[in-house]
Amino acid sequence: MGLLSEGSPLSWEETKKLSPHVRKHGIEQFINLYHRLKDRKGDVLKWGDEIEYILVKFDEQKKKAQVSLRAQEILNILNQKEQNDPEGVKSLWRPEYGAYMIEGTPGKPYGGSLAHFNVVEANMRYRRQEVSALLHPDESVISFTNFPRLGCDKFTYPEYDTTPDDESSAARSLYFPDEAIYPGHPRFKTLTRNIRMRRGEKVAIKLQVFKDKNTKIPVDGSPLGEPSTVLLDAMGFGMGCCCLQLTFQACCIEEARTLYDQLTPLCPIMLAFTAASPAYRGYLTESDCRWNVISASVDCRTSGERGETALKGGERRIYKSRYDSIDSYLSSEGEKYNDVSLIYDETLYNRLREGNIDHLLAQHIAHLFIRDSVSLFSEKVNQNDEEDTDHFENIQSTNWQTMRFKPPPINSSIGWRVEFRPCELQLTDFENAAIVCFVVLLTRVILSYKLNFLIPISKVDENMQKAQKRDACRAEKFWFRKNVDNSSNVKSEQNTFEYAKQSETEEEYEEMTIDEIINGKPKTFPGLVPLIHSYLQSMDVDADTHCTIQQYLRLIQKRASGELLTTATWIRKEILNHSDYKGDSVVTELINYDLLKKAKDIQEGRIVVPELLGFGNNSKTKDDIPSAIEKYLSVNGCCN
Ligand code: ADP
Ligand code: MG
Ligand code: MG
Repeated sequence: MGLLSEGSPLSWEETKKLSPHVRKHGIEQFINLYHRLKDRKGDVLKWGDEIEYILVKFDEQKKKAQVSLRAQEILNILNQKEQNDPEGVKSLWRPEYGAYMIEGTPGKPYGGSLAHFNVVEANMRYRRQEVSALLHPDESVISFTNFPRLGCDKFTYPEYDTTPDDESSAARSLYFPDEAIYPGHPRFKTLTRNIRMRRGEKVAIKLQVFKDKNTKIPVDGSPLGEPSTVLLDAMGFGMGCCCLQLTFQACCIEEARTLYDQLTPLCPIMLAFTAASPAYRGYLTESDCRWNVISASVDCRTSGERGETALKGGERRIYKSRYDSIDSYLSSEGEKYNDVSLIYDETLYNRLREGNIDHLLAQHIAHLFIRDSVSLFSEKVNQNDEEDTDHFENIQSTNWQTMRFKPPPINSSIGWRVEFRPCELQLTDFENAAIVCFVVLLTRVILSYKLNFLIPISKVDENMQKAQKRDACRAEKFWFRKNVDNSSNVKSEQNTFEYAKQSETEEEYEEMTIDEIINGKPKTFPGLVPLIHSYLQSMDVDADTHCTIQQYLRLIQKRASGELLTTATWIRKEILNHSDYKGDSVVTELINYDLLKKAKDIQEGRIVVPELLGFGNNSKTKDDIPSAIEKYLSVNGCCN
């Protein structure tokens, strides 16, 4: 979540009363910031990954795995290291929602050189080892999207009872004790309480159980009339999941808007591709991904706003949770694909327009600003709108969407950035590095060849839902643009495909499998990896870097073709084939223990699972970039 501002949180009543104030000043702050920074140009490509990890404690006697609530202790040590040597550290560590979670990023963002791909995986490995060195012998740091028994009895260490009837509890959950929420900063419990209070009841996350031959229906705790639903009742079930995110710096605001738009249709594709979380609260479910879970876990809308009851005074219908896929494109090319009705505050929109913000950006910001503040600190209430941006950030940073458009921080060397947020976590650094490099390369290809992936937002939304279904990566088809290279910019000897001829009335998009999207369709669609290959042909790539990239792309291609499994499919198989599994969809303590043990062994390279990695995790990466190699990826950035 980035560095957090300290202070004392206001009560929900106070926060609610001040929401219009936060919105009004947040908009002024954005207008000022925009005019100060809109002409900023010539920033180079920089980018970085964020990986969230869970801390797990293994009980070897009882064959039990629990999440270890020691993140704060570990973070204190890591952050001390950073304070002592802010320039020198190779990693940065930040708190996350769970008291068992930590988030790690590279010490400095990577730059435009292709050779940086040689150190991504090594840096991920370094981070894992750095944390491992601070753990007890029975603890491990694991890159796992969702702890399968999160919310089951005694899933934490130390163990705590839940206190659903205690009015001072933040979550009041039947399953997720407040002690599992990160205690080192008030933000997390405050958000939990305020989201619940704004909604007027606890959040309700509903997943369909995976029905096996002995599955007990009704599922324990299922809501009335929905017997096959696994019900989760706390923010922690979503925000307590881990993910992989990427941030890119663009050369200027226009390039950032283009990247934001062009990466949007890839969000559901990459969600399905990285799917890694089929089990929740000890049950196998019909879902392979965390997305809908986390979306519902912070859904602060009232029943009226959700369309379930009549609207009350001052309310309006709101179609999505504040954690969801984006609702509008930002570039002029994207405008005609903005086909979902966008809710925004007219007054704020008009103020932005008066402040000389163009229509597309104004409606984007005004749409984010339909939300109330759900966390406000007393020290931050009164601000100087010329210099501060906290009120803007307050609303911006609690709109958790598939993409985030990030303006430069005031008085910094950082430029306009976009964040790519859909991906789930893979078990190995090799896989995570492959995904990171693949997406970074895609951005270069998009910008260099001026590719166009745009499809209507409504189709992206449909894809988001398909992406989360069981085995979607192999089984589903996704809306995708047929001709991504309008002006035939891709020049390569191997470039023999011809896009299907398109008549005026025909749709620009069709349904494709992930295999077709990534590997291509004979004669009609080039495929994302072949496009990257032809881009790389035009670059002068040294042998080491070439070798690194090829290994990653091979993994991507094989998973897309179905030859290799997604992490979610692998987890399912492990559960279903376990000797303790009784055909009842239940992930028992023993199954959970063995699964996490195996995950740990895979991550640490002690066992290799060919159906996940193919040729095995034999990648070769360097700790330092050969300084002689400085070929810039951003050759065709619009400011160069
Ligand atoms: P968040 O908004 O998710 O908290 P941060 O602002 O903390 O994200 O940024 C985190 C990510 O951005 C890291 O991966 C980091 O390496 C990367 N990053 C930092 N500086 C830059 C930059 N100038 N350009 C692009 N990415 C950057
Ligand atoms: Mg995070
Ligand atoms: Mg982030």
